[in-house]
Amino acid sequence: MSAVNASGWRPSMGEGAGEAKFATSSGDYGLMLEEALSFELGSADKCGVDIDDADRAPVSGLGRFLRKAAPALPGLTEPETVRHYTRLSRQNYAIDLGPFPLGSCTMKHNPRLNEKMARLAGFADLHPMQPQKTIEGALEVIEQLADWLITLTGMASVAMSPKAGAHGELCGLLCIRAALDARGEVRDVVLVPESAHGTNPATAAFAGFKVESIPATPAGRVDVAALKAKLGPNVAGVMITNPNTCGLFEPDMREIADAVHAAGGYVYCDGANFNAIVGKVRPGDLGVDAMHINLHKTFSTPHGGGGPGAGPVVLSEALAPFAPLPFVTRGDDGSIHLVEEENASEGHAQAFGRMVAFHGQMGMFTRALTYILSHGADGLRQVAEDAVLNANYVLRSCEDLLPAPFADSGPCMHEALFSDAGLADGFSTLDIAKGLIDEGFHPMTVYFPLVVKGAMLVEPTETESKAGLDRFIASLRSLAERAKAGDESLHSAPHFAPRRRLDETLAARKPVLVWQGEAGVPGTPSLSEIGGS
Ligand SMILES: *Cc1c(COP(=O)(O)O)cnc(C)c1O
Repeated sequence: MSAVNASGWRPSMGEGAGEAKFATSSGDYGLMLEEALSFELGSADKCGVDIDDADRAPVSGLGRFLRKAAPALPGLTEPETVRHYTRLSRQNYAIDLGPFPLGSCTMKHNPRLNEKMARLAGFADLHPMQPQKTIEGALEVIEQLADWLITLTGMASVAMSPKAGAHGELCGLLCIRAALDARGEVRDVVLVPESAHGTNPATAAFAGFKVESIPATPAGRVDVAALKAKLGPNVAGVMITNPNTCGLFEPDMREIADAVHAAGGYVYCDGANFNAIVGKVRPGDLGVDAMHINLHKTFSTPHGGGGPGAGPVVLSEALAPFAPLPFVTRGDDGSIHLVEEENASEGHAQAFGRMVAFHGQMGMFTRALTYILSHGADGLRQVAEDAVLNANYVLRSCEDLLPAPFADSGPCMHEALFSDAGLADGFSTLDIAKGLIDEGFHPMTVYFPLVVKGAMLVEPTETESKAGLDRFIASLRSLAERAKAGDESLHSAPHFAPRRRLDETLAARKPVLVWQGEAGVPGTPSLSEIGGS
């Protein structure tokens, strides 16, 4: 990247590919700052900390662990380090800069009150190996949050430790496997509808099940007849995303759950999109046996490069006994503690094992409980209503220009789905997505779900104002008009971002994930080889 610097111009600012329109001696342009890697910036003689007298450092006790050679650190002073990371952060789009309309991701505002609570020393400075007696307050937080999740979902219990949505899916399927083992049955097929999130079939395969696909109806919902036809003694269960990835509620959940249960299977519901129905629908009433909840989506904890996430899994009576360890519980005397081992007297003899070493993401639990308590039950219901209202506003404001394949099926849930049918020849979803970058927005989810040609999945979330939505809609409409009119300049968008259009395929197939020394070293793809400029 320093090569870009040295040439003294920003190719990304030119109108034609590679055309140098402006020249600066620094490689920076206005407040757009180029940045080399820390290893390229630093030198061995610099250090970011003051060490009074290095020779007198108490190192004798390190014995054979004493370093023989200096560590290969970049060598930057403190101000250089701070500037390096701050400059890099400015090349990135963030939820604190503007909307992040990524469908199914629920990238919404992270309230600062959550941060304040999570930073309280009593939570922030905990260590997972501390004696239990010293962390009872933290265990209370976990238990209160668990209570809320159980109440909001109408389920029997919750496993708090999974660390993300997909991790929660795995936890749910391992509970199903344990329940089948306890029944002495071998069932090796999991049914996954086309309208499910991509992690669902991946999780089922990872857990060792065979995945069989269920088609979607023309209305974008699970084909119930096709699903029923596949049920049998080999089916362990189904995984249904609800609301699904077409942005629609699956209205036949109860009928599906009854049929699956009658055939001896379990119902996994992908609840990542719970923010569309929280306070409105309880999955427990729909016959769900296991469902993960993404605290980093519905309950506003940081997400996307800013994680870590948390994916608690709520469980039905049938699966609760198999939930993983450890488990927060309250003794008869009211004292709270963690169940660390299988323990029949605490009703937990059949735990399938552990998902993680400790009890989960304390920082996320604190933030999520803060969010829940600051909204209350009514506030959470309003979250769902506003998320759905905002998505329908986007849907109805753009459907005359961008076809909305399921708009006739009624209102959408929390995300609006468009297709790129009807753009001028040679123009597609990618051009609209890249054009959005020039308009100052993060692109929406593209080419997913697969059941829609050139899908654009927009999830505005409930934290965007009407004024903010109107700006986004105006941009999307203008881009759709340009793509319909065959405006060639869209093909080379983005024009105003730190990088121009990258080769998406190469970037995915040959990602350069580590610093590999000087450019030109054999085996090191150059920036142009990975499609950058
Ligand atoms: C985000 C999402 C997941 C995966 O959750 P992670 O926390 O990213 O692992 C699964 N299903 C749906 C519908 C999602 O939106």
